Amino acid sequence: AAVEGFDIEDVEGAIEAAGHGPLPVLAVVGRPNVGKSTLVNRMIGRREAVVEDRPGVTRDRVTYEAEWAGRRFKVVDTGGWEQDVLGIDASVAAQAEYAIEAADAVVFVVDAKVGATDTDEAVVRLLRKAGKPVVLCANKVDGPSGEADASYLWNLGLGEPHPVSALHGRGTGDMLDAVLEVLPDAPEQSFGTAVGGPRRIALIGRPNVGKSSLLNKVAGEERVVVNELAGTTRDPVDEMIELGGKTWKFVDTAGIRKRVHLQQGADYYASLRTAAAVEKAEVAVILLDASENISVQDQRIVTMAVEAGRAIVLAFNKWDTLDEERRYYLEREIETELGQVAWAPRVNVSARTGRHMEKLVPAIETALAGWETRVPTGRLNAFLGELVSAHPHPIRGGKQPRILFGTQAGTKPPRFVLFASGFIEAGYRRFIERRLREEFGFEGTPIHISVRVRE
Ligand code: GDP
Ligand code: GDP
Repeated sequence: AAVEGFDIEDVEGAIEAAGHGPLPVLAVVGRPNVGKSTLVNRMIGRREAVVEDRPGVTRDRVTYEAEWAGRRFKVVDTGGWEQDVLGIDASVAAQAEYAIEAADAVVFVVDAKVGATDTDEAVVRLLRKAGKPVVLCANKVDGPSGEADASYLWNLGLGEPHPVSALHGRGTGDMLDAVLEVLPDAPEQSFGTAVGGPRRIALIGRPNVGKSSLLNKVAGEERVVVNELAGTTRDPVDEMIELGGKTWKFVDTAGIRKRVHLQQGADYYASLRTAAAVEKAEVAVILLDASENISVQDQRIVTMAVEAGRAIVLAFNKWDTLDEERRYYLEREIETELGQVAWAPRVNVSARTGRHMEKLVPAIETALAGWETRVPTGRLNAFLGELVSAHPHPIRGGKQPRILFGTQAGTKPPRFVLFASGFIEAGYRRFIERRLREEFGFEGTPIHISVRVRE
């Protein structure tokens, strides 16, 4: 399409960039203190600092967007917490397990100065079992004299050790080149590849909201489909459950059923698990406890699902416990605390009594439909044209920025690119998003709008 004042290449490039599908996921795993967070910091540049100065500080953020040699991907950092009551091997393994599960490729970091330990060997066994591509990072090789230490790591049987100094940047470029060679362009579970296959649901929410109760309820009343369906679960961690006459894949149900009680790092562990489940899913069913106030942790989980660009359903559980007063305050709270997902379909359920379980599937289907909506370019521009003439952008510095043309570059979730004659203010962008939702629905889905401004 030709847009006044833009080169055709710019237009095509912008549409392609905005329309990118889901990004592949790289997990960085290894023992504590080998330099995982330092390495992740290097990969994502200075945009977000992930290394905490104080030990034991829990971080809730575990996935980051990174770019190397023009390719974008997500990085899952498992450097968030130290050994806990499970003992070092078990805790490192538990973290690594979740991260590897969600990943399309893995960077395994070993401290070359220390050499391979038993814990490292335990991770190697996990990596073998998972069968994902692995790049071995021999870290803390700060100078040429450390190269010999790195070469000992051939013994791990994971191929070439890449000598790196995460701290100083030495060798990180070569290692990232090796990563890009094994990292697929799109996630393995790429959306839409399994046409007609089961849709993937992540059931997420903070501890004690009722995830395992809900899962038991749906799995108990309906048939749990075992692994015999053609091409379905290779993973024992996911469960196929029939609901509303269709089969759905509930991802990472092992994480819900495994009730590990950790002291230190429990929040971080829960975040990692949530992030892994969200990465693997198409739709996130976010469970909240209707009997309790909406917490910061609830909001973080919502943000995680929104940022990952998943379809979203909000399910308020424990509805059986609510009295009229609580119901009144809950509505007010939802308005003030969950404004960022005001577009998500909502169901009020009880895993205990089975109340409104039948409403879950229609809500999920609504959200998935919104997530996959494609607006034809002609219709979009007719709509934008009317919108812009009825509500023009405010005049700034004697000029009036205009939207010249718009197109939907992608779906899952819907992504739009607007071409404008001048800078479009945030308020006006939000206004456009609101009106797009009013016009085209997009129930249950985040939408992305990027604006290109004529030079
Ligand atoms: P994590 O627990 O694996 O995430 O490890 P961190 O990234 O927090 O690093 C642990 C410690 O090792 C920190 O003090 C880092 O500064 C240090 N470190 C990380 N990478 C390097 C490196 O390449 N060389 C040296 N000398 N120290 C490093
Ligand atoms: P999870 O940590 O999110 O998996 O939560 P659980 O399923 O273990 O539930 C936590 C607690 O909430 C348990 O004591 C459940 O019996 C209780 N619970 C779960 N769903 C309901 C519900 O719908 N109503 C009531 N009253 N209690 C519930």
